[in-house]
Amino acid sequence: MIKKKFKKVLVANRGEIAIRIFRACSELGIRTVAIYSNEDKNSLFRTKADESYLIGKNKGAIEAYLNIDEIINIALKKGVDAIHPGYGFLSENPEFARKCEKVGIEFIGPNHNIMKKLGDKIQSKLVANSVGVPTIPGIEKAVLSEEEAIEYADYCGYPIILKAAAGGGGRGMRVVKEEKDLIKEYHSAKNEAKKAFGIDDIFIEKYIEKPKHIEVQILGDKYGNIVHLHERDCSIQRRHQKVIEFTPAFSITEEQRQRICNDAIKITKAVNYTNAGTVEFLLDAYGNHYFIEVNPRIQVEHTVTEMVTGIDIVQSQILIAEGYALDSEKIGIKNQEDVKPRGYAIQCRVTTEDPLNNFAPDTGIIDIYRTGSGFGIRLDGGNGFTGAAISPYYDSLLVKITSWSRSFEDASKKVIRALRELKIRGVKTNIPFLINVLNHKEFLEGKCDTGFIVENPELFD
Ligand code: ADP
Repeated sequence: MIKKKFKKVLVANRGEIAIRIFRACSELGIRTVAIYSNEDKNSLFRTKADESYLIGKNKGAIEAYLNIDEIINIALKKGVDAIHPGYGFLSENPEFARKCEKVGIEFIGPNHNIMKKLGDKIQSKLVANSVGVPTIPGIEKAVLSEEEAIEYADYCGYPIILKAAAGGGGRGMRVVKEEKDLIKEYHSAKNEAKKAFGIDDIFIEKYIEKPKHIEVQILGDKYGNIVHLHERDCSIQRRHQKVIEFTPAFSITEEQRQRICNDAIKITKAVNYTNAGTVEFLLDAYGNHYFIEVNPRIQVEHTVTEMVTGIDIVQSQILIAEGYALDSEKIGIKNQEDVKPRGYAIQCRVTTEDPLNNFAPDTGIIDIYRTGSGFGIRLDGGNGFTGAAISPYYDSLLVKITSWSRSFEDASKKVIRALRELKIRGVKTNIPFLINVLNHKEFLEGKCDTGFIVENPELFD
């Protein structure tokens, strides 16, 4: 059953993910609409859409992309059938999804009720607990006072981690090793959460030492069918943010992999999940896995899963929103066994950050931009070209380089080769740092945990 064939899709986002979505739409014969802020008027992404419209004339660079009513009004005026939110900005905002649904525009993602249940980290832990999926020991309640902070932290036992219920991108998160730092960090996490998400609910859980971050890609249609597209290892992190991701997570056992993937299905089934989503877990040094959160949206690192499964996740999102079942001819996933990953894929996030200066974002004009390519290399770029201005307004992701090969070692050789071909002058980038990580013995063995970068200062040389 097809509910609606989209003729026009608006992407409520910018940069590389906007281009990624335009490409998926074009291949499906759908017309594309970009929105862009004042600060983005010279950005490449807006020229890649069939139509583009300025938004947030009197708003800030970020606020422009957060203005729900203005975005929906443009969509209505321009005859848009559906909106894809990308990642970040409004992608996890149930109010945006609800308002789209209300005016008859399809929101390409789970519906707002599912988002509400899973978007909040406290709520989603409760969902996991209700279906017997292990979560990190903690108190599944927002901390309401300093006294409660002390009480909950004592209950968990130090070290603990303070986390924002609405969190994302590592913001509103603080590790506390001793009680003496608790109150200061509690207020600091609360302030950061308020600024970043407008909601300052903080909760406390046990801090797991040196875990691996393993996550599972999910696709669900509107008829109750859910499959997973296997796992990704996203343990290479800096300040709780991912830097390099790969699949499969070959250092974990087959049994662990199956348990994690099955638990991801359990959680999403519990809420009748639809569209694409990612279920994230931490794996401790003893092989125990714990659910941490669901991201009800496309993720930056979806590319590695696409490379090994051959499934276009963004096209699948659009087709699911149109009403196609997973086993329809268009999507073509008859059952779980039909998802057969092949080979290894690695993604690196090339950013305009200076690794020698504590990864401070750099800005300026790119004087030279020569790209890397070749067999087994995929580039998802946003704003990289000779003459491009790198502004301070947005995140510093310049291009994602994803490699595919039949072995992990070959995939890493390919991505290093592509990084070396990539010549960028005029702004600093993290390329030398990425190459150091990719050449590291521990990385090649797939053994890294989330502590890898801080424990290896030679990576910065
Ligand atoms: P965000 O939504 O801000 O990205 P997540 O909950 O996904 O936050 O966590 C991001 C990263 O923070 C994890 O991959 C992990 O490295 C670290 N982290 C989160 N919770 C814990 C914990 N309880 N113990 C240790 N590390 C944690």
